[in-house]
Amino acid sequence: MTNIVFNHATVRERADMLTYLRLCSERGLKAVSIWGDEIAKVGENDALSVLQDFGMRVSGYNRVGPLNDYQSDLAEAELERAAKFEADHVFLFTGGLRDNEKDLASARRRIEDTVGKVLDSARKIGVKLAIEPLHPMVAGDRSVISSLSHSNSICDALGPGIGVVVDVYHCWWDERLPVEIARAGEAGRLFGFHVNDWLIPTRHVLTDRGMMGDGIIDLRGIHSMMKRAGYDGAVEVEIFSTDWWSRDPAQVMDIAIDRCRNLFSVD
Ligand code: ZN
Repeated sequence: MTNIVFNHATVRERADMLTYLRLCSERGLKAVSIWGDEIAKVGENDALSVLQDFGMRVSGYNRVGPLNDYQSDLAEAELERAAKFEADHVFLFTGGLRDNEKDLASARRRIEDTVGKVLDSARKIGVKLAIEPLHPMVAGDRSVISSLSHSNSICDALGPGIGVVVDVYHCWWDERLPVEIARAGEAGRLFGFHVNDWLIPTRHVLTDRGMMGDGIIDLRGIHSMMKRAGYDGAVEVEIFSTDWWSRDPAQVMDIAIDRCRNLFSVD
C-alpha cells in the first residue's frame, strides 16, 4: 500500500496553507507537498507548528526557479526553508527560453549548468533536488526540460542528490516512458509520482488539468511502471484547474481520494 499526498496547489485558491493542512489531517493523510509562497502568506512559524501538531511530513517543497536569471542567494533561501521544513525533495522549476531566444539547444545547456550549481548548494544544505520534466507544449515559457530521458541524462551527469518526479500530465505521451521510468528506478532516483488527467479537449495547458479518471491517461498502467521500477512512495494529487479550484476544497479532496483508491492500491 502506498499513501496519498495532496499538492497544496490542488486546493490553494480556496484553502490557505493552514486550512489545507487541517483538511489533510482530517482525512488521515500523513504527508503534504507545500509551496514557499503559501508558507510566506501564513507565516513560517505558524506553518511549522501546525505541521508538527498534526505530525505531518513534508514530501515535496515547491520550488527553486525559474533558473534563467539564476540568483544563488534566492535559490539558497528556498533550499534552506525546505530544509527547515524537512522536505523530502525540492522541485526545480527550470523556466523556458529567455526573451527573444530561439536557440533551444543552448538554452538547455545553460539550464543544465545552472542545475549543477543549484545541486552544489542543495548538497551543502542537505536537501535533495527533483527534476520534473514538463510537457513539451510549455518548453517555450516554462521548462526546456521536456522529457524523462533528458532528466535522467542530467541526473546521470550530476551524480547523487538529484532525482526525478514523474507527473502523468507531462509524461503520458512519451513513447520512452516505460524505459525511462525503469532507468530512473534502477538509479534509485524516482522521488515522486504526480497524478491528475489529460482532458479532451484541454482548454488551457496550465489551468485545465483533469481529475484522475476524467481524461485519457492510462493511470493504472503508468503506476504499474513506477511500481515495477521499485517506486513505493506516495501518489501525489496535483490538479491545476480553474474548474476544481472553484469547488469546495474538502469535496475536491474527497473525490480525489476516492479516485485514487479506485485506480491505485492506496490508503
Ligand atoms: Zn507535478
